[in-house]
This record gives sequence, C-alpha cells and structure tokens, in this order.
Amino acid sequence: MANQSLVPKNPSKSGKNWLVEVSQHDKSGNHIYTTAGGIVKTKVKVHGAKFSDEWPQSLYFPDGHIHAGLFKGMATILDECRFSRFVGKNSKLAQCPKFQCKGNLAAPFDCCCQHMLYNQPDFVDINSLLEAACKAHSFEVLFLPKFHCELNFIEQCWGYAKWIYQLNPASSQKDDLEKNAVAALEAVPLKTMFASHSCHFMDAYSCGLNSCQAAWAAKKYCGHRILPESILDDLEKSNIT
Ligand SMILES: [Zn+2]
Repeated sequence: MANQSLVPKNPSKSGKNWLVEVSQHDKSGNHIYTTAGGIVKTKVKVHGAKFSDEWPQSLYFPDGHIHAGLFKGMATILDECRFSRFVGKNSKLAQCPKFQCKGNLAAPFDCCCQHMLYNQPDFVDINSLLEAACKAHSFEVLFLPKFHCELNFIEQCWGYAKWIYQLNPASSQKDDLEKNAVAALEAVPLKTMFASHSCHFMDAYSCGLNSCQAAWAAKKYCGHRILPESILDDLEKSNIT
C-alpha cells in the first residue's frame, strides 16, 4: 500500500475521493520542486489489487457504476473478498485504537478492517514506494531489523568515523568541529570489511547465538568469512554464555 494512513471504511463521496499523495517527477524521473524548494506533490488513485484467484480487483468503482471512479472503501473491498461477515451486521472497526495490531503477528486476523486489508496477500506482497523507486534504478532494498546497528553496514562506517572524531581535542569552535567531522568521515578506510563484520553477526544469530556470544564470535573470527562449525564448542570452552 502506498500510504499507511487510515484507509476509509466507507465509499468516497463525490468531490472527496480518497487518493494518495505522491511526489511528482519530471521525464527524467527527478523530483519537481516548488519555487520555495519543496517537492511538488500530486494525488493519485491507488492501483488495483487482486482476488485470491489472481483476478484484478479495482479499488475504485468501475465505469458505468453510479459512483464511477470513487474509492470503494474498505468495507466494500473486503466484502468483495468474501469477508462480508466482518463488515456487515457485526461490523469491525475501521481501525482498532492506535492501530495496535500493526506489525503484531499475534493479533487476531479480524482485529479491524485495516488489519484484514493489509494482511491480504496482494497487499502484503506489494512494494513500497521506496522499493519501487529503487527497483526502477536496479537497486534492491534490504530491510534490516530496528535497533540492530551491528547488522547495518553503514552503522559500522559511522561508528568508525565517530571513533576517529573523538580522538580530536575538545573544541567548541564551529570551524574545528566541521574540519574534524569531515576528516573523520574521510578517514574511514574503503578497504575495511564493514560488511563482513555485519555478516558475522548475521551468521552468529542464524546459528542461534545470543548478542553477547555473537559479539565474541565476530571479534574472535574477524578474519573468517563465516563462523567455524566448532563455534558452539568454542563458546563453551571459553565460557561465553
Ligand atoms: Zn487492529
């Protein structure tokens, strides 16, 4: 889904069609800017979904319909997907309070209309705007878990630059700070295998090691491409728990 804001439960009214805001691009694919420097935005229809049999499902009423071109609303969309029991008499909320079920794998399937809709296979599998933009330029987006800087290559580079930066004598002079920051960033060696360091952690976690064991293993086997098969025995011998 292009926009994670609340999708209306009911059909749009004429003149208030539900659309999503996207950035406008020129023919070269670059953003268009306003005179004030902001990115020019435009509103577009969300592209269609698919039924379980792969038949296309438009999210807007078709030509010839009394509400042609207007957004159908979640209730109608779910009804068309044979979820009428959830949107009819015993109607579910459009969205539960604070959308608490979002990202909660233990949340019941029918928590709220938004949850049901977002968990339809064609909604789950759709690329985000970021993924679509990167794919158009032949880049793949790799999503990493939150709060795990050890798995993020660029965080390793920042960490290195910060370490270099803190070696400088303390100063409150703007020029000094800027010069030191630039020098620290330029000091990051291109040959250092930051990716390998992160890969060691990924390898360790996939072996079932905890964060403490993974940190120990990443340091001990920093020259290895992957962790040795003896890793569990090595941890036990070194009493790393
Ligand atoms: Zn919910």
